Amino acid sequence: MSFKTLNLSPKLLTTLEKLDYTTPTEIQVKSIPLLLQRKDILATSQTGTGKTAAFTLPLLENLTEEHTKKTGDERYKIKALILAPTRELVIQIHNKIEEYGKAFTHKSVALYGGVKLGSQVSAIRSGANIAVGTTARVLEHVKNGSLNLEEVEVIILDEADKMLEMGFIDDIRKIIALLPAQRHSLMFSATFPKPILSLAKSFLKHPITIEIDKENLSTKQVRQLVNYVNEEEKMPLLSALISNNDWHQVLVFTNTKIQADKIVEHLKSNTIKAQAIHGDKTQGMRMSALKDFKAKEVRVLVATDVAARGIDIINLPHVINFELPLQNEDYIHRIGRTGRAGQEGEALSLVCEKEVAQLKEIEELINKKLEAVTTDNFEFTPHITLTNRKTKKLKKREGVNLKRAKELAEKMLGNEKSPQKGRQTKKKNNKEKPSNKRHF
Ligand code: AMP
Repeated sequence: MSFKTLNLSPKLLTTLEKLDYTTPTEIQVKSIPLLLQRKDILATSQTGTGKTAAFTLPLLENLTEEHTKKTGDERYKIKALILAPTRELVIQIHNKIEEYGKAFTHKSVALYGGVKLGSQVSAIRSGANIAVGTTARVLEHVKNGSLNLEEVEVIILDEADKMLEMGFIDDIRKIIALLPAQRHSLMFSATFPKPILSLAKSFLKHPITIEIDKENLSTKQVRQLVNYVNEEEKMPLLSALISNNDWHQVLVFTNTKIQADKIVEHLKSNTIKAQAIHGDKTQGMRMSALKDFKAKEVRVLVATDVAARGIDIINLPHVINFELPLQNEDYIHRIGRTGRAGQEGEALSLVCEKEVAQLKEIEELINKKLEAVTTDNFEFTPHITLTNRKTKKLKKREGVNLKRAKELAEKMLGNEKSPQKGRQTKKKNNKEKPSNKRHF
């Protein structure tokens, strides 16, 4: 399948050719023809699947370029509005519109907080017809009188579930109320919990649902590995992995700002150049860290989930989950930072004893078992005390003695040393047999 079969204009095809986009991704194949016909859609979307182009390319084709003429009232009227959960994602989408829209006269403006309104107001006034924004900043511009949404023809909610999770539902509803009833509406979401479905119901008209085969999501190109490790050894393991393997562009995920800063300090003390991006960093700091990381001036970028939304680095080779995310769904978003658009990547999760049960949930979610790897000098020694509750449960359930329960608990933890049925022990001793465990 090529882009030519999707009914795109020759000038857009030329741009795509220059970008070396030869084959449309699954979400692009499924969405573009529908969006060119202005059908409302509700689509599953994961980062790394090419969803930005899936909605941007038809948008560029559908909007008439007259809108950008700087005459009369026209210039203050935005014709397309894209809402996204974070500043980084807003900037990323805006950049993509500029990249894909080179052959058009459309003008996009990125509206996000953390910076003054002034330059954004000027960008709107200079004739922007596409606005990409976070909900709060869009409302700020509306209140300020600098943004007029009365002529919006297309509205796109990107990462809708994340916006809801971050508490933006009221803002979304306020913005929707400002739009004309006659419009083309699109909603992209990784998951479809009840509030998303109810929003979709009120927001979309006869939407066509687009689902991407789970197997085809970002996870497909990504080699997903797990290194079980004692919690207190995660920091030294991280620096050892990066140094010993000579990794040069590593994105590390963690759950808290404090932890992100601690990791950066630890890496720096091990002469590994690292920077953090999280909510406590100013927009300028976040952008400069991202720029340095992209330019490979910084070897490791440590990010929290929210700050990492919108990180788009082609062919990022390594993603490390320093800890599993607070929300299981974020695992997919995290690993989607590597293996983007057909490139291969590796996502390694450092999992300690207390995270083992959550890893099982994630494996169920992605329908895949992570490949276990070990690292020299970092032996995983789970404490049965921690699994005491589980042990007791097992004991009760299985009606076995404590020894047997401990064995089961160890098996559950994937502890290689478990003598359970002797399977893994046998495998370890049999040097001829290829092991499914990789050794760093
Ligand atoms: P997205 O899922 O929109 O964040 O896109 C992920 C990455 O894939 C971005 O770096 C895009 O530039 C790139 N991309 C999107 N579509 C294609 C395509 N059809 N061929 C090659 N690269 C693509």
